[in-house]
Amino acid sequence: TAASATTMEDCCVKVAVHIRPLIGDEKLQACKDCVAVVPGKPQVQLGTHSFTFDHVYGSTGTPSSAMFEECVSPLVDGLFQGYNATVLAYGQTGSGKTYTMGSGCKDGAQTGLIPQAMSALFNKIESLKHQIEFQLHVSFIEILKEEVRDLLDPNSSNKSESPNGQNGKVNIPGKPPIQIRETSNGVITLAGSTECGVQTLKEMADCLEHGSLSRATGSTNMNNQSSRSHAIFTITVEQIRKGDSNSNDSMGDEYLCAKLHLVDLAGSERAKRTGSDGMRFKEGVHINKGLLALGNVISALGDEKKRKEGAHVPYRDSKLTRLLQDSLGGNSRTVMIACVSPADINAEETLNTLKYANRAR
Ligand code: ADP
Ligand code: MG
Repeated sequence: TAASATTMEDCCVKVAVHIRPLIGDEKLQACKDCVAVVPGKPQVQLGTHSFTFDHVYGSTGTPSSAMFEECVSPLVDGLFQGYNATVLAYGQTGSGKTYTMGSGCKDGAQTGLIPQAMSALFNKIESLKHQIEFQLHVSFIEILKEEVRDLLDPNSSNKSESPNGQNGKVNIPGKPPIQIRETSNGVITLAGSTECGVQTLKEMADCLEHGSLSRATGSTNMNNQSSRSHAIFTITVEQIRKGDSNSNDSMGDEYLCAKLHLVDLAGSERAKRTGSDGMRFKEGVHINKGLLALGNVISALGDEKKRKEGAHVPYRDSKLTRLLQDSLGGNSRTVMIACVSPADINAEETLNTLKYANRAR
């Protein structure tokens, strides 16, 4: 029952920090490690700054299964009780968001949080399928420049990036844009995006892989991956618990529906760092709009006093927060994983990330 639900009950947003190890490039530049974890505490130090979070995962510390168990597993369990949930990976480009989520094409394909969530989900379904009928759907979209793009669209051509830097995607003429809608009972739906019905772990993993491949490319100064878009992989779990036909006081069939959004956010670095030409700069500004709105929503939700007074939560300020509206706050659980590089050359952006994450708590 709902009452048995977990550690996430009292606070609606949990924040964890994931510090990746120094990577090749940083080692080549002889970068120093400038982010320290206070032993035995979920506390991070950067220069004279010190921040405490719900969890800290350092490069020398906990294996990734601990991150899954502590941060995401309770959210997967909550789906079976009808609670929506959102996992957000935040951080500058190159900080390990895609690696942490496992939404990339190569890295973290097994160990990322999404693959782990998928197998936990199917394990749980396996143990319940005799009493409960399940229907699973996934969608995978990205938000770029305040436009929603379907990463699972079977009709779009997803050629890899061509040498002149233009990606080979073709917009199908006449295909209506994807729209975010709200039903009268507050459920957010995406009109016009592909909802793939899946029955097996393999089918779900194929959707993740397909969408990851389809994700927009377009190089920036920092990274030629899609660092300017938010990628949102959503698993919807519908369950029908069969009423007991032998019992007279049958309450009939019980229906529950819940969704888990797994979000690989756009790079949090400032537009000036990605921008060379005017168009890129505009994209940067739009991305900041989503991240800015997200920060405002989460901090409004985290302020318990304001929340009880029914203060305004500015969901409508961006597509990202609009889409996540029914899965942030209320009865839903949210985990933000702030990803950081330990390298001294990234200290300024790392500090920005820690401040943003700190504000979310
Ligand atoms: P982002 O998605 O934030 O731009 P990525 O996930 O692409 O960052 O990671 C940037 C680079 O760092 C990649 O080469 C990735 O393999 C590496 N990396 C990220 N996190 C880790 C980690 N925990 N351990 C080892 N390498 C990592
Ligand atoms: Mg990435």
